[in-house]
Amino acid sequence: MQKSSAPRSYLVLENYIGGKFVSCQNHIDSYDPSTGEVYCKVPDSGKEEVDAAVEAAKEAFPDWSARSPQQRADILNKLADLIEASVEEFAQAESRDQGKTVTFARTVDIPRSAYNFRFFASSVLYHTNDCTQMDHMGCLNYTIRCPVGVAGLISPWNLPLYLLTWKIAPAIASGNTVVAKPSEMTSVTAWMMCKLVEKAGVPPGVVNIVFGTGPKAGDALVGHPDVPLISFTGSTATATHITERSAPHCKKLSLELGGKNPAIIFADADLDQCIQTTVRSSFSNQGEICLCTSRIYVERSIYSEFLERFVAAAKKWKTGTPSDPSNSNGALISKEHLEKVRSFVALARSEGGIIHCGEGVHELDLPQRNKSGYFMPATVISAISDSSRVMQEEIFGPVTCVSLFDTEDEAVSKGNCVRYGLAATVWSRDVGKIHRMANRLQAGLVWANCWLVRDLNLPFGGMKNSGVGREGGKDSYHFFTEVKSITVKH
Ligand code: NAD
Repeated sequence: MQKSSAPRSYLVLENYIGGKFVSCQNHIDSYDPSTGEVYCKVPDSGKEEVDAAVEAAKEAFPDWSARSPQQRADILNKLADLIEASVEEFAQAESRDQGKTVTFARTVDIPRSAYNFRFFASSVLYHTNDCTQMDHMGCLNYTIRCPVGVAGLISPWNLPLYLLTWKIAPAIASGNTVVAKPSEMTSVTAWMMCKLVEKAGVPPGVVNIVFGTGPKAGDALVGHPDVPLISFTGSTATATHITERSAPHCKKLSLELGGKNPAIIFADADLDQCIQTTVRSSFSNQGEICLCTSRIYVERSIYSEFLERFVAAAKKWKTGTPSDPSNSNGALISKEHLEKVRSFVALARSEGGIIHCGEGVHELDLPQRNKSGYFMPATVISAISDSSRVMQEEIFGPVTCVSLFDTEDEAVSKGNCVRYGLAATVWSRDVGKIHRMANRLQAGLVWANCWLVRDLNLPFGGMKNSGVGREGGKDSYHFFTEVKSITVKH
């Protein structure tokens, strides 16, 4: 990130604090990943801006938390309506800011952002609390849940509006007010949403958005003594820092982190369905989804057939200009990230891995204006050891590795041999095998014969280094509220 003062011809974003757009003195360059050109200036906020946002959120809290869930739900539904009415505008902006295809933004990111508000507007109406009787003591026990106060929300660049709203919606539905900090690399759609927040009738100070870098704006939010809760989605390395930084304040933390997700493919799988879905699970959104498959283990008897058909399908996964609907992938987020992803392919090559397609095997045919963009074709690697960094570390790009196994036990131990535990997919027609594998794989989410099918009621999150806590219908409600146990002697 280079710093500079804001010139005239760029899109210049402002913070949204206490219901007002507030300009910032310094800005950060934000790039269009498909051209490599700076097109937007993002506020380079720090402690001062975060303090102002927290003050606004504190002021708004008493009124907002006193409203009924139905009153809050009505406003959330209105916000969902407004986003839905502007899907195209948001999709174009998300694509330009992040590099993903317009098609992906139009069909996944933006509809899901609207649905996040709609879902939590509805689910917050139906939670129930516990009640127990102690007749021998003449006591009745029950629980209530209260909003926590000002929630600090920090989100990454891969699904910008989708993941930000996944936090804002449950936080405000439960009666909290929020200070959110989106990724400095993808701030535009959050800024666009602020205009709709006001229109939907969200009172000033309930939603505050402060833009800026992690070490400055993010750190000020995490270290703020009046922000008792942080919901963070991002890398495991940043989460470690956030955990340390918030420890002196005993903050409530929800950490949704990286993954190194295996697909386990048994010989009895429906291969047509499996190959089609596994190409999608490996390369969707340029492989920049925490849930993407990056290690594919195939039972030995079908390994050769699988590899041949999988590589053929990967070659058809087209990469190019994000606005072209015939492309499945657009550009990666940044030059640095592209270099990092490429370095894993180079490492695999140096370790004797076979690169079947993609990086270094075939060139992309890009229009002139996209030649400086951060594009990389879908890449399939085999013959790489399980202990290689390529098989152990999160690459977060359009790269997947194929390997083999002989027995169910071996598939489990290979699936579990990384420090992450976010998601896994299992492919088989044997129901018993599916249940056994789902039970033994160390992953917060297991999909059998499918991928990315999500019921937002279910807990979302990872184990091991993939996270702490779960978010989703009841889990988000529990995270964004504090429970009290009350005993009444009668
Ligand atoms: P990142 O950790 O670099 O940044 C995430 C956010 O944290 C950004 O807003 C950033 O500005 C902020 N941040 C950075 N340093 C900070 C600090 N010291 N204090 C406070 N905030 C700080 O992650 P990224 O590169 O933006 O996102 C990619 C990562 O996110 C991948 O590891 C991916 O797997 C993970 N991810 C996880 C999920 C999930 O649900 N488990 C979903 C999407 C992405």
